[in-house]
Amino acid sequence: MERIFSMLRSFVDDGGKTKFCVTCGNKATQEALFTVGDGAILIEKYCDTCVTHVQKKE
Ligand SMILES: [Zn+2]
Repeated sequence: MERIFSMLRSFVDDGGKTKFCVTCGNKATQEALFTVGDGAILIEKYCDTCVTHVQKKE
């Protein structure tokens, strides 16, 4: 399914559960929002390093 990069935002830790980067598995610090085909929002979490690649890709 096509997804279009929408925005980045700092990741807010909700409840003390550590979230991990979907690319490398390090601790996630930011989340990227994508719009997918039917208008839904997809959120993926990334560390500081990988998030720069997400931005460049789109
Ligand atoms: Zn990463």
